[in-house]
Amino acid sequence: MYRSNNCGELRSSHINNEVTLSGWVQKVRDKGFMVWVDLRDRYGITQLIFDEERTPKAMMEQAQKLGREFVIQVKGTVIERDSKNPNIPTGDIEILVSELTILNTALTPPFTIEDKTDGGEELRMKYRYLDIRRNPVKNNLIFRHKVTQEVRNFLSNQDFIEVETPYLIKSTPEGARDFVVPSRMNEGQFYALPQSPQTFKQLLMVGGMDKYFQIVKCFRDEDLRADRQPEFTQIDCEMAFVEQDDILDVFEGLTRHLLKEVNGVEIEKFPRMLYDDAMRLYGNDKPDIRFGMEFGELNAVTQHKDFKVFNDAELVVGIAVPGGNSYTRKEIDKLIEWVKRPQVGALGMIYSRCNEDGTYKSSVDKFYDQDDLAKWAEITNAKAGDLVCVLSGPTNKVRAQLSALRMELATRLGLRDPKVFAPLWVMDFPLLEWDEDTERYHAMHHPFTSPKPGQIELLDTNPGEVKANAYDLVLNGNEIGGGSIRIHDKATQAIMLKHLGFSEADAKAQFGFLMDAFEYGAPPHGGLAFGLDRLVAILGGQETIRDFIAFPKNNSGRDVMIDAPSKIDDAQLEELSLKLNIKS
Ligand code: ASP
Repeated sequence: MYRSNNCGELRSSHINNEVTLSGWVQKVRDKGFMVWVDLRDRYGITQLIFDEERTPKAMMEQAQKLGREFVIQVKGTVIERDSKNPNIPTGDIEILVSELTILNTALTPPFTIEDKTDGGEELRMKYRYLDIRRNPVKNNLIFRHKVTQEVRNFLSNQDFIEVETPYLIKSTPEGARDFVVPSRMNEGQFYALPQSPQTFKQLLMVGGMDKYFQIVKCFRDEDLRADRQPEFTQIDCEMAFVEQDDILDVFEGLTRHLLKEVNGVEIEKFPRMLYDDAMRLYGNDKPDIRFGMEFGELNAVTQHKDFKVFNDAELVVGIAVPGGNSYTRKEIDKLIEWVKRPQVGALGMIYSRCNEDGTYKSSVDKFYDQDDLAKWAEITNAKAGDLVCVLSGPTNKVRAQLSALRMELATRLGLRDPKVFAPLWVMDFPLLEWDEDTERYHAMHHPFTSPKPGQIELLDTNPGEVKANAYDLVLNGNEIGGGSIRIHDKATQAIMLKHLGFSEADAKAQFGFLMDAFEYGAPPHGGLAFGLDRLVAILGGQETIRDFIAFPKNNSGRDVMIDAPSKIDDAQLEELSLKLNIKS
């Protein structure tokens, strides 16, 4: 038996017990006549004591030679500590060791294995197995486990069945590039790894499974913007015989359950907002509603004067910064520089100070009088002491820019408290999205999303206006998940694919299996998927999903620990009937 107890459970009530413990040497304090060792395992730290008077000489010497991260087993007696440590749960006791076995030695670790470590991110990733011994990483993994357990409990209690779907499949269009896997048995042919199990879960509905979920890996070969992973986990769900409200109710219930069980936070009904309103009020389809600072559109109160910049703009829009009138000229100039950074891309920013005495002072006083500025304040909801910041330009661009400014200011003002949770459903997304690069419409969600009833005809006349039965769940300004009611008949699916630019032959080649299935009695169905990594990070009050993934990849998609991706040898290529012809 390696251990009778773990390193986190012994208390004064165990005094005089004979115990066996195993774990890692966290620290050795050697006073010559006395040696203390902190023994660590997943559950905590227990202090071991060896002393000249009570410990045989050979064991004393052995203890003095223990190195950090040695794996040892000890037998001994639980005794009361002379000087207690109230900071750890086992701080009242220590183990007087009677037997010491070194189970394994360890090289000196490349960084300190403590809560605050001296190891940089890249180094910690290379030795992730050591990093996982640290509390912050270990606790995040345990936290993630708790969340997934609660997801499984909740959904199983609601009659959902977890079904596994294959990883070696054919491309599923979720808007990203596929990872592909060459097939040895089918020369020159490739599987794609699923961007999501989308078509399979729809086929499970045709198969009568009725309520499906899966905690599942998805793979998307995208350029890795900060905090994305090429492989990530979804809580993927689908339900048959449901309307949008049924789905929102179930997954609002799941989210509420998680907030309650995991965070102890109770939240009433989640607000719902139309996509168009989210864009108008926050310039963003995933607004952070923990704070106000809603947009005020100012075209009507700015385009009647000679200020050409505003007159030429499609949209003039502002926000009120609470207390912003206290900013110095220099601080405002810095803010203007901030919006002009290429990442934000505004050409400039106009502002109006709302003085305590009810007067206004703007950067465009030449064009606008006090009455005009009073209207700006009214529309942006600015109070005395605030600062109105105004951007102008093409609608989509200027909304994105002002949204970036809104988030930045809220962060600076401390309005984005990670302990506050503000969920929001955003609904009625456009079905299609114009892509400037390819000059074509793309499915905003995916090609299986159904248009709102009665809008099919609009596809021919005004495709950009067609709204979908699609919804996203947003939490604290992050998209946690999204889904839709699906198309479930072949004819509508064919129309949709035609509008996305698929020829009949291409549509058949790529999605024939799904369209065929729709001809054998497909029930009305819909679903959604939550991004588990991000959900866990947000519930954990943190920002980076990497911190909640046991073995994450870096920003270039590399696993620096196992050194992947890497070359394969010629024999492997030969087996796959592949010859490399690397372009660069
Ligand atoms: N498959 C979708 C996604 O991965 C989710 C859904 O529509 O259910 O975003």
